Amino acid sequence: MARRKIVAGNWKMNMTPSEAVKLTEELNPLVASDDVDVVYCVPAIDITTVVEAVKGTKVAVGAQNLYFEDKGAYTGEIAAPMLVDAGVKYVIIGHSERREYFKEDDAMLNKKVKKALEAGLIPILCCGESLEQREMGVTMDWIRFQIKSDLVGVTAEQVASLVIAYEPIWAIGTGKTATTEQAQEVCKGIRECIAEMYDQATAEAVRIQYGGSVNGGNAAELFAQPDIDGGLVGGASLKADFGKIVNYK
Ligand code: PEP
Repeated sequence: MARRKIVAGNWKMNMTPSEAVKLTEELNPLVASDDVDVVYCVPAIDITTVVEAVKGTKVAVGAQNLYFEDKGAYTGEIAAPMLVDAGVKYVIIGHSERREYFKEDDAMLNKKVKKALEAGLIPILCCGESLEQREMGVTMDWIRFQIKSDLVGVTAEQVASLVIAYEPIWAIGTGKTATTEQAQEVCKGIRECIAEMYDQATAEAVRIQYGGSVNGGNAAELFAQPDIDGGLVGGASLKADFGKIVNYK
């Protein structure tokens, strides 16, 4: 069965709750699509208002992070059951900004992936190499290491339901998109890694996004690649361009 495309906007630390409502109202008519799953991954404080503002549309709301415990003395953190209760469906895990600035390592990300799945959330698990790693020729080794570490103890059935986002760090927010060939090559490599870890059916089912300076002008070519099932979009998700990305055909 053909995989359904999924385009997720990562709003990062942008938009106050009132700005978020305005943006959602502007984007909703532009992202209407029968063929593509659309997600707004919003700051935690915007979740309730955006969940309300997407009612009656097909857009789902995602979070940008979660903690791996259900409740307790973890000041400042947000638990998976809280996200579920608030109407969240997806959660970004392991974005390179969280790996770099907040020192989230693969052992922690593995706990987060398992907690999200246990709670019924769909993880958008991010992986990607630095420019230095690409130049050293270790891109695929690094990405395989990330995927294998982040999915320890995750079942084939669970993996089939999740989304993996390949985001070369050097292409995030830089305006420098990976070439279509580079993006396809790594997304294919990720699918092969899943086939080795699990089986072919699981590899065929998992959705793999490309992320890194996706915009209305390059989405069509990227998403036409056989192993690219959509995009994780930063900068362009805050603008009307997001509608062009969703309706890339
Ligand atoms: C991202 O933050 O996940 C991202 C891909 O950002 P941008 O589209 O701005 O490069």
